[in-house]
Amino acid sequence: MPELPEVETVRRGLDARLVGRTIEHVEVGRERTVRRTSRQEVIDGLSGATVIDTRRRGKYLLLGLDTGDDVMIHLRMSGRVLLADPLTERPAHTHIAARLAGDPPLELRFVDPRTFGEVVVFDPTNIEVEMPDLVRLGVDPITDGLNRATLRRIVLSRSRQLKALLLDQHVIAGIGNIYCDEILHAARLRPDRSSSTLTGQEITRLHHQILRVLGDAIEAGGSTLADTQYVDVEGNGGQFQLSHRVYDRAGMPCITCGRADIQRVVCGGRSTCFCPRCQR
Ligand SMILES: [Zn+2]
Repeated sequence: MPELPEVETVRRGLDARLVGRTIEHVEVGRERTVRRTSRQEVIDGLSGATVIDTRRRGKYLLLGLDTGDDVMIHLRMSGRVLLADPLTERPAHTHIAARLAGDPPLELRFVDPRTFGEVVVFDPTNIEVEMPDLVRLGVDPITDGLNRATLRRIVLSRSRQLKALLLDQHVIAGIGNIYCDEILHAARLRPDRSSSTLTGQEITRLHHQILRVLGDAIEAGGSTLADTQYVDVEGNGGQFQLSHRVYDRAGMPCITCGRADIQRVVCGGRSTCFCPRCQR
C-alpha cells in the first residue's frame, strides 16, 4: 500500500506536469472509485477546471482547482495515478480518465485493480462535512515539519506500543507498515516498546529516523514491492525497496548487525519485522 513517500512522489510528478493545465473531458467508469459523491459530481467538478496546485497530507493527495474546489485522491491498496499520451491504450482497471486541453496531449488516469482507492471533488470551505477524515489527520512529518518537541509530546503523553502509535494516522499521518518497520529498526527501538518509556536520547533518535527514512524514501521515488502496484505518474517503480533492512525480511540475517535473524511478530495488529538484537 502506498505510504507517504510514494504519495509524495506522485504529487511531485503531478506538480511538474499538471499545474496550469485545464481538464477538458472526463470519463468515470467504476462508481466505487467516486463512492463518496457520484460519477456526475466528479465529472462536473473536474470538467473545465484548471489545476492550480498540488498538496499532500499523510497519504492523501490534493489538487487545487481554479473553481475553488479541491480534488482528493487516495490510492489505498492498489491505486495508481498516471499521466499518459491519450492515444496510448488505457491500462485495465482505469476508472477515471481526464483529458487535458493544450500541448503536449495528456490524459490523467486513475487505475485501481482492487478499487479501494477514491477520488473526491470537494469544497474546502466545507471540509469538515465533506472530508472529515482529512480534518482528523495527525501531524504530517514532512508537510508540517515534525519537530522533536511535538514528537516528544506525542510519545510521552501516551502509553502505546510504538508500532501502533506510528501507524495511527490520527497521531502521525503518512507512515504505514513498511516505513514504520524501517524507522523503528533505524532508531534501534523494538516495535512493542511502550512509547511512554522512551528516554530523551531515544526520542531524539526516533525523531531523526522518521525524517531521515521518509526523506531518503522520497528521494528514491518510494518503494515498489513485488506484490504491489505502486508506480509514479510516468509508470516507473521506486528504488527504496533496495534499502529495506527489515521489512519483509523475516528469517533472513539482519543486515545491520549480521548476528541475528529478522523476526516477524504481530504488533499493533500488523505483521511486523524487527531485529531482536539491534532493537531494544
Ligand atoms: Zn540486527
